[in-house]
Amino acid sequence: MKQFKTESKRILDLMINSIYTNKEIFLRELISNASDAIDKLHFISLTDSEVNSDFKIKITIDKDARTLTIEDNGIGMNKEDLEKNLGTIAESGTLDFKEKNEEELIGQFGVGFYSAFMVSDKIEVLTKKYKEDKAYLWTSKGVEGYEIKEAVKDGVGSKITLTIKQNSDEENYDEYLQDYVITSLIKKHSDYIHYPIKMDVKKTKEVDGKEETFIEEETINSMVPLWRKNKNEVTTEAMESFYMDVFHDYEKPLKCYYSKIEGKVSYNAMLFVPQKAPFDYYSKDFKRGLKLYSSCVLIMDKCEELLPDYFGFVAGIVDSSDLSLNISREILQKDRQVKQISSSLEKKIITEFKKWLEEDRESYTKMFAEFGQTIKFGIYNSYGMKADELKDLLLFYSSKAKKEVTLKEYVSNMNAEQKEIYYATGDSIEQIDALPLAEKVKDKGFEILYLKDKVDEFVVKMIGKFEDKEFKSIADGDLGLDSEEEKKEIEDKQNDAKPMIEELKEALGGKVEIKLTNRLKSYPACVTAVGDVTLEMEKLYRSMPHANMPKVEAEKQLEINVEHPIYSKLESLYQEDKEKAKKLVKVLYYEGLLLEGLPVENVPEMINDITDILV
Ligand code: ADP
Repeated sequence: MKQFKTESKRILDLMINSIYTNKEIFLRELISNASDAIDKLHFISLTDSEVNSDFKIKITIDKDARTLTIEDNGIGMNKEDLEKNLGTIAESGTLDFKEKNEEELIGQFGVGFYSAFMVSDKIEVLTKKYKEDKAYLWTSKGVEGYEIKEAVKDGVGSKITLTIKQNSDEENYDEYLQDYVITSLIKKHSDYIHYPIKMDVKKTKEVDGKEETFIEEETINSMVPLWRKNKNEVTTEAMESFYMDVFHDYEKPLKCYYSKIEGKVSYNAMLFVPQKAPFDYYSKDFKRGLKLYSSCVLIMDKCEELLPDYFGFVAGIVDSSDLSLNISREILQKDRQVKQISSSLEKKIITEFKKWLEEDRESYTKMFAEFGQTIKFGIYNSYGMKADELKDLLLFYSSKAKKEVTLKEYVSNMNAEQKEIYYATGDSIEQIDALPLAEKVKDKGFEILYLKDKVDEFVVKMIGKFEDKEFKSIADGDLGLDSEEEKKEIEDKQNDAKPMIEELKEALGGKVEIKLTNRLKSYPACVTAVGDVTLEMEKLYRSMPHANMPKVEAEKQLEINVEHPIYSKLESLYQEDKEKAKKLVKVLYYEGLLLEGLPVENVPEMINDITDILV
């Protein structure tokens, strides 16, 4: 007897003692495994004429023995496969037991083969692999472990025999031994499987006026993959449940699209936008891509060439009869037809997303919150080449609307005197909203876009202009909002204060200029960047591992609000106690850094400076 791997044991335990209400999914999981195994052999059969290509999945019920059998003539497994595949759960390492309850865990991952333990006491897998002589029998009664023995079997493929649990007070397991229950489960979840799922069904006929029962093998599923049906036969509900089954998602997709294209390259495609990013979406392990079929034969599970990476979150399948069946990864990358399909899907998604944005802003915003970053990276990674195509899909939070708006909406709301698109950067809506420089701009009635993703500022720089309007950061000095008098007034003040400023700026180590400003409202001061490196770029640099990178640091200035009482205080302190005045300047600088989300390098020094001012 061999032990299961620890993680697998936990899942097994979960399955055996499951109170999960949707136990019936086990059948869908086993049929889907059988279909995958046949897909693999089907693919081989294209180049190996010796393979018996009469593919099928056979379901048998034996009420007396309480067994349900799922048999396929697919690729089969050898001893190593059994150890590897059924001794451990492939991705169990990524299952987060702590945060999810049982319902979510099973729902989300389906947990494949193991789900059969929800309804069975014992599972046997008799299997023989393609091109191998020996067959094996894998047996397990649950957590104690499993056994693998050599066995005898005709033909390749796998036969999974479940010994169904006895009824309990809460659960009626007998139903999984009923023909009509099993047939209806197959119709419900596995109808589209494109190999016949056969069952011996009891039938009656009349012979000489008497009813006689007889057994006939019947194909239960329609075998027409959903994506091959006529558009008018495919309901949204059908697509949604197809998506959940095939892509193992426990939530309906936000959007489903079906297209049937006849043209230079003909293909059928079904695309789905999930509600949430898959758990590994932001990890290196995430593989994007669509399932690629050629005339219903699966040739690749994740074909990334079919979609640009900025739509990498879109799931789906593509089936084309125009593709060569033995297409390899290398050929795929250059294949003209694949390129055509990919570019037509890309156009389709862009058009559909624009429609979605107009017709259902709420759900589009949900999608954008989840996947908008990926779309923005499309503009960033292409150095702006994709900007024209993608810019209309972007949403940014607006200070005025207090929700996400498009660039088009922003521009159409601009008043005549405004020449540029104003934006502010920061780490969150709240932080940007509290930026000292934002206050007066908002007060004067201007709308500001809040750029809170690290990539955002690069994105707007790469877009360059939107409807002839340039983007301008509110931190970028002159926004042209002041009258000539106002400008003159502040210049005079700056000139008058020159000796004081020159002396006080020593407190900041000589690296930071001091400027007087009237563009602040309630805050005493702020820190802004002068020169090409913005504060946002410095923050981005600080957030990255940068062992071998040249240091990126913004040249900074401290802007002090002349309309704030703190400025008069500074002036009088300068007369009475220059050292204290210098400390005050330092404290204003610390405040400015913190408001921008930048760190104060020497915290003890800051504490001492603040304390000195307070006493
Ligand atoms: P998943 O299907 O998500 O990979 P499962 O736990 O359902 O996870 O199955 C684990 C693996 O066992 C499969 O990936 C496949 O390699 C193998 N397997 C399961 N059922 C069969 C089968 N009927 N024929 C061949 N291999 C199978």
